[in-house]
Formats: sequence, C-alpha cells, structure tokens
Amino acid sequence: MKMIKIIIFLVCIGTAWYLGRRSRQPKEQPRNKINIPRDYLIGLNFLLNEETDKAVDIFIKMLEVDSDTVETHLAVGKLFRKRGEVDRAIRIHQNLIARPQLEKVYREQSLFELGQDYLSAGVLDRAERIFIELVNAKSHSARALRTLIDIYQQEKDWENAVKAAHQYEAVTRQSMQPTIAHYYCELAENAAHKKQFDEAIQFLKKALSADHACVRASLLQAKVLIETGEYKLAIHSLKKIKNQNSDYLSEAIELLAFCYEQLEDEESLVIYLKHLLDEHPRVPVVLILAERIRKRKGDKVAATFVADYVRRYPSLRGLYTFVNIYISSAEGRAKEDLHILQNLMKNLLADKSEYQCNSCGFSGKSLHWQCPGCKAWSTMLPAYRLEEKYEPVVAG
Ligand SMILES: [Zn+2]
Repeated sequence: MKMIKIIIFLVCIGTAWYLGRRSRQPKEQPRNKINIPRDYLIGLNFLLNEETDKAVDIFIKMLEVDSDTVETHLAVGKLFRKRGEVDRAIRIHQNLIARPQLEKVYREQSLFELGQDYLSAGVLDRAERIFIELVNAKSHSARALRTLIDIYQQEKDWENAVKAAHQYEAVTRQSMQPTIAHYYCELAENAAHKKQFDEAIQFLKKALSADHACVRASLLQAKVLIETGEYKLAIHSLKKIKNQNSDYLSEAIELLAFCYEQLEDEESLVIYLKHLLDEHPRVPVVLILAERIRKRKGDKVAATFVADYVRRYPSLRGLYTFVNIYISSAEGRAKEDLHILQNLMKNLLADKSEYQCNSCGFSGKSLHWQCPGCKAWSTMLPAYRLEEKYEPVVAG
C-alpha cells in the first residue's frame, strides 16, 4: 500500500515536470525526438531498486521551480511534513525561498510553510524569526501572529505574548483581552514566586484592566495581599469573585474564611456566608458554613442545616457533608450503616475529577487556567459545578 502511494506520488511529480517542461519547449523542436534527462533514468533506477528516498530527491531536483511548478513544490513539501518527514519539507521550502525570481506571493507562502516545518521539528527560535518576518506580509500577518502567540505561550514568554496579542487585535479587530489578562497573571505569578509583591500587584492591576471579570487576577491579588498581611484588602478582592464568575466560588471561599479568622471576625464571615448561600446555593459555601454552625451550635444543628440544603439541592458532595456531620450524633446500628454509606461516598468522590474543561472535556485533580487538552483559557471549571443541580427540588 505504501509503495503504491509512493509511486502515485512520483507519477504526479513526473507529470508536473513533464507538463512544465513541454510548455517551455520551443515550437520548432521536432516532436519525435524524445530527450530523456539523465537524472530521470537515475531516479527510475533508484525506484526500481526500492530506494524510494533517493528517487524522490532526484525527481524533486529535476522539477524546476517556476510559476508552473511552484504549487507542486508547495504541495509536496506539505505532504512530507504531514508524513513526519520534516527535514525534506524544510529542504523543499528552503529551495523555493532561495530562488530570487520567485513571485512575492509564493515567497511568503513558502516562508509560512518553512515556519510550520520548524514548528513541527520543535525548532521554536527559527520558527519565531520566520513568523516575525511574516507579520509584515499582509496576506499572512493574522496567521503569523496567531502562530507567534502559540509559540510564546509554549515558551512561557508572556511579555512577547502580550505584544503579539495586541498586534493580533489590531490586525483582526478581535478582542484578546481575556487572554491578555491571563498573560499578566502569569507574569504576576512569577513575580510573586520571587517575593516581588509590588511588581505582582502591578501586573494584576493590568490583568484586571484588560478583563475586569478575570477571577484568576482577583484570586492572585488576594493571595499576594495575604502574604503581606493585608487581610481586609484580600477580602475585598475575594468578594469580587462571585460577580466575576460564581463558578469559581469554591476557589475563594477557604481563603475568605482564612482572612476573617486572621482578623478574628468570624461573626462577619457567618453573616457574609449566609448572604452568599441565598444568592449562590453551592456545596463549598454549605461546607464552610456548616463547619461554623457546628463549632457554635453543635452537630445536630449543623446536620439539620446541611440536610435542609441537600433536600433542596441534591448532590453527592452535599450528601457526603451531611453524613460526615450526622454520623457523630448517631448511635448503634444507625451509626454502623452511616459508616458504610460514608465509605461508599468517599470512594465515589475519590474517583471523580475535581476540575473539568467545558470545551474539550479534559479532567483532572488540579485547576489549570489554560486547559492542557485544548489550550483554551478559563475553560476548566470545578467539577462540582457541573454535577450539581441548581434548580431547587419542589416537593410534589
Ligand atoms: Zn480543554
């Protein structure tokens, strides 16, 4: 099968070569004189000896580059790259670019293909140089910028990613602001990692001015403020998250409780959580509130509180929280049964992913702001959000 494909491929090259050659032949040349080039015979011999690699190279060399054959060269180059023979694709595209008489449109196309070859080969710096050159070529600037953005993301070169994204916006008039906000968050994370907190805060301000709904920026802002002991300001940042995107409340709630604890103001925390629960009846809020109720009023009151929630908004995680609290006040056979149920639910939850991408379905135990599967930003959501029912159950 592979051999047949190669032969079909060679016949295509041969035909293109023949047609190109015939169209250039002077009309007065006698038709009966067949002039077979020596290279053609050498190529044929390689083919017959099953040395197809050498044969292909010979035929390509024979196929002169001109306006009749340039499309064939480009198609063959692309074919090689798709088959994983990147070295050959590179040779073909370099050969095209080296022709001084090549039309501008074909030169740019060959350059773009060469850039793709380098990308496939993982030679990112060379690919980068080519795509930077192509940004100025009108016909390729949007695609070149899109590819440059991908390269900078791979290289974690966030400063250049920001610049390329701005250029892409100018060329295509498509907003890149939510993605730019993530680039600033990446820069802020790096700065915070080096304990450069002022710098981190500056990057986060830029992130929020690019996208005021950037949950990640508010979360990071709170984490940096917690590091510097500014708990009130951290609470202010965390409270914004419910309006930015309430799906990520679970990421904020424990930090929020921590800040209030540091300020020794549990009263305000409980008031805020109750208010939050009315607006967003979600398991993480119930969990943290149940813990506070348990501390203040005991297991039974806490269990009743969770039971009431689970009745209205059924979910495995909610039920598990209920069992955990209820079990301590149960006795005898009931307690034994609850232990069985508790273990069963624990195992069920252990198998579940904590986060899932709503674009490609990638799932895992940790939150990636850029999905490792489809590379989209902000598509991974806490899984509890996807499995819960938010419509209250109305008793029939
Ligand atoms: Zn994804």
